[in-house]
Amino acid sequence: MLNFEWQRAVIKVGSALIAPDGTQCSAKYLLAIARFITESRLQGKQVVLVSSGSVAAGRANVATRHAPSIAEKQAMAAIGQTRMMANWARFFDFPCAQILLTYDDLHNRTRYVNIQNTLRELLAREALPIVNENDSVAVNELKVGDNDNLAAYTALVSQADTLIICSDIDGLFTADPRKNPDATLIEEVETITPEIFKLAGGAGSSVGTGGMKTKLEAAEKCSKSGIQTLIVNGRKGDVFDALLAGKVKGTLFRSGQTQDNARARWLKHTLKTAGEIHVDDGARKAITERGASLLPSGIIEVKGGFKPGEAVNIVFDGGNIAKGLSLYSSDDLSAIKGLRSDKIEQAIGYTYGEAVVHRDDMVLVFSK
Ligand code: GLU
Repeated sequence: MLNFEWQRAVIKVGSALIAPDGTQCSAKYLLAIARFITESRLQGKQVVLVSSGSVAAGRANVATRHAPSIAEKQAMAAIGQTRMMANWARFFDFPCAQILLTYDDLHNRTRYVNIQNTLRELLAREALPIVNENDSVAVNELKVGDNDNLAAYTALVSQADTLIICSDIDGLFTADPRKNPDATLIEEVETITPEIFKLAGGAGSSVGTGGMKTKLEAAEKCSKSGIQTLIVNGRKGDVFDALLAGKVKGTLFRSGQTQDNARARWLKHTLKTAGEIHVDDGARKAITERGASLLPSGIIEVKGGFKPGEAVNIVFDGGNIAKGLSLYSSDDLSAIKGLRSDKIEQAIGYTYGEAVVHRDDMVLVFSK
């Protein structure tokens, strides 16, 4: 078994584990997963859960004589979502927090930043975020579509280092093990090539919407952003004992590069800046010497027009010292520059928190 290390993971649990009979939530497979989440948190690790099961959990209440229409499935999701949440909540002493997302939310910069802030706050407060697609508002072209890809986006937005996909199969095989007895488990994938994609057949179980293909798509998205992906069998308790001991019983997809490098590179080289925030010497020291976030009190001047979530240069004495994502627009910053963080709300009517550029969203530049 391979060793793996992690600090913040997104765990994706599919409908086949939550509602094994396709019509209602069950505790059968979730007990071991819930224990894993609780034990991991006791080890000081952070977990975000991506859970399917809303459509399956609401199915029994929306009787159909034919294949369900989109609206009928949306009604099932609306009924089933609260059940799915309640089904998880009974395993935990800490609060479970529901986050429902669509493709649109993840591709809109302002909403993306809002989602990131909410997740950050929930993790800081030791709640368990439980993410699902907002099935009752999004129809096909507005959806991510399957929760494997949704889990990959969630890993990106929550800045996780690991995505764990709990499937009903042991991992990626050299052939479909349900059809081919000679199929063997692939323990490690260094790079996801077209050949690897060829190993994935169509959808697996009849309850969920994914299959190996969407799991590979998710692993590929993550790998490109420096996040490792594990595919494990969520039906087997010993898989979670192994994970707690830092071992992978399943398939491990290595990340292409380290998360820090990937993110730092993205911030430093890819992202176009929309403005400048000029800071005083106190803020410069806090940022460059103490690894702190940028607070409004250290801002002297704001240049350019930018929206919340856009990239800015942080400038001291005419030289760029850092680059990062501003949580506030240029207009708002002009109103709060020089103020103490507890005065933000009074000045502009709301607050995203004390930082203007959070440390996680900042990279040092040092070019004078
Ligand atoms: N979001 C859907 C649900 O909660 C499931 C999608 C999937 O299985 O991947 O039922």
